[in-house]
Amino acid sequence: MLFGAMSEMTEARRLVSGRAFDEDARIEATVRPANFGDYIGQDRVKENLQIAVEAARNRGEALDHVLLYGPPGLGKTTLAQILAREMSSSIKISSGPLLEKKGDLTAVLTGLELRDFFFLDEIHRLQPALEEILYPAMEDFRVDLIIGQGPGARVHPYQLNRFTLVGATTRAGLVMAPLRSRFGIVHRLDFYTPDDLEKIIGRSAKILGITIDPEGAAEIARRSRGTPRVANRLLRRVRDFAEVRAEGHITLGVARESLKMLGVDEHGLDETDRNLMLTVIQKYAGGPVGLNTIAASLSEEEDAIEEIYEPYLMQLGLLDRTPRGRVATALAYKHFGMEEPRRQPGLF
Ligand code: ADP
Repeated sequence: MLFGAMSEMTEARRLVSGRAFDEDARIEATVRPANFGDYIGQDRVKENLQIAVEAARNRGEALDHVLLYGPPGLGKTTLAQILAREMSSSIKISSGPLLEKKGDLTAVLTGLELRDFFFLDEIHRLQPALEEILYPAMEDFRVDLIIGQGPGARVHPYQLNRFTLVGATTRAGLVMAPLRSRFGIVHRLDFYTPDDLEKIIGRSAKILGITIDPEGAAEIARRSRGTPRVANRLLRRVRDFAEVRAEGHITLGVARESLKMLGVDEHGLDETDRNLMLTVIQKYAGGPVGLNTIAASLSEEEDAIEEIYEPYLMQLGLLDRTPRGRVATALAYKHFGMEEPRRQPGLF
């Protein structure tokens, strides 16, 4: 019984997380947009990148290095792949924590052809020693190879082909100035509007052969916390429900019923979001309360709270980050049907 309850809770947590899971990876390969035309929303970013691509293509040059930041699941990897495709180039993909030794990074860099792309996810987690290799590689397309060992070791500068680094991070604040300044193009991806998510759901449904009413798609969109990855995941869960309970067709009613069963409320909040907000409100009188305290009371990692839960709660206007800690807003009290306590003026 306890096991059942626990696994259900883990599942509910996962459901609205923007981070990718194994199951997502398989499906995403089929629904991931392959060109700008299919990439829905993020119009400002898209337009800027399209212009940069066209200019670079006309000049026959590699595209400037690009830094994309924003919460997980918003389409950073997808954009990198589209950029490479639009430039008729190949792309190599890696991530900060995957690159352990200097040699791992040098091997990728020296293997890049002219105008190739290197997508480096979670660039804020790259080790400092490896980050230093990136500086001359990005700026002068050079790596310093060390030949030999000990006192007899020699530095041998190696000229790389001109390539484009696309760095992605969920934590822009952790990308230090020397690295950041080497990117010519920097864009932040925002949460998607429900309209855009509805289009994304409609497109994915078509590709996956799911029949869905516009009202059903709109309902899933509203609860997808502005994140395409979550929208695609909820669509698959609702499809399961529809197949078992409603002859496979997703209507507004089917969407509502299944999302309720999955523990995702009308704003896309799940159990962990609710627990987080109620912790701040009930245990800490609305805050300010430190991130570490919240993490400890929820038995969650601080990273996950900062990266997945808080950005969306802040976007909804339920939570504020202040220098003294996290604070529940007046709207949060309203959302949970509670009375806001009188706070001392000037407290934050
Ligand atoms: P990130 O790298 O930011 O974590 P991804 O690029 O892997 O996010 O996107 C997650 C999934 O969401 C993709 O596989 C794709 O199916 C979908 N997706 C992301 N952005 C868009 C978009 N603009 N239009 C349609 N689908 C998208």
